[in-house]
Amino acid sequence: MKIHGFNKLTLLDYPGHTAAVLFLGHCNFRCQFCQNSSLVLSPDQEPDLSVAEIFSFLKKRQGILEGVCITGGEPTLSPDLPELALSLKSLGYLVKLDTNGSRPDVLKSLVAQNLIDYVAMDIKSSPKRYPFVCGYSSISSIEESVSFLLHSSIPYEFRTTVVKELHCEEDFQAISQWICGCRQYFLQSYKDSQGVLVPGLHSCTLQELHHYLAIVQKTIPHAQLRGVD
Ligand code: SF4
Repeated sequence: MKIHGFNKLTLLDYPGHTAAVLFLGHCNFRCQFCQNSSLVLSPDQEPDLSVAEIFSFLKKRQGILEGVCITGGEPTLSPDLPELALSLKSLGYLVKLDTNGSRPDVLKSLVAQNLIDYVAMDIKSSPKRYPFVCGYSSISSIEESVSFLLHSSIPYEFRTTVVKELHCEEDFQAISQWICGCRQYFLQSYKDSQGVLVPGLHSCTLQELHHYLAIVQKTIPHAQLRGVD
């Protein structure tokens, strides 16, 4: 098990819970707006943190911290993910999984084994624009994960990072039809950073975000903006 990053406390990443965050390497997507490009492109050059030290910390925080978020990269690519989740559950932690949804079999297996408690799945764009936005064209796997979550009892959210150059009205019309009936859907504003995979992208204005939200809310009335100042 290689853990490349560890955030000891987040109040934002696990809705309603205090949590730590574990970062795993590698990803099968190449999202233009990816903020963790080093974890995606060159994970072997990232720090290889001591799993023993991380678990020692988590043991000390039992009863104080409530959850652990597993993110990446794409965590479902890691063969050690079930074991990691089981170890965290054994310490009494709630486990949140961030995923791009490309490994529906892994997702289903984790849920079936009660190894995760919350799923945050990215909806990168409308199905037809996935190849453009994130360089991934096996849409059937994404659709399978979406369908699974729509009919699952596990708490989950769908979320889209909105980028001025990558998204348009048509995308949100298509997305809102696709994930109609979902429990939660958030539009998140892109924020530029040094580690972004493709520099030069921009966030939308607040007005544009509200415009897209209004499109989505026609079919998903409870959709919300997140992380917007
Ligand atoms: S944003 Fe997520 S899915 Fe996309 S390349 Fe980065 S780690 Fe992979």
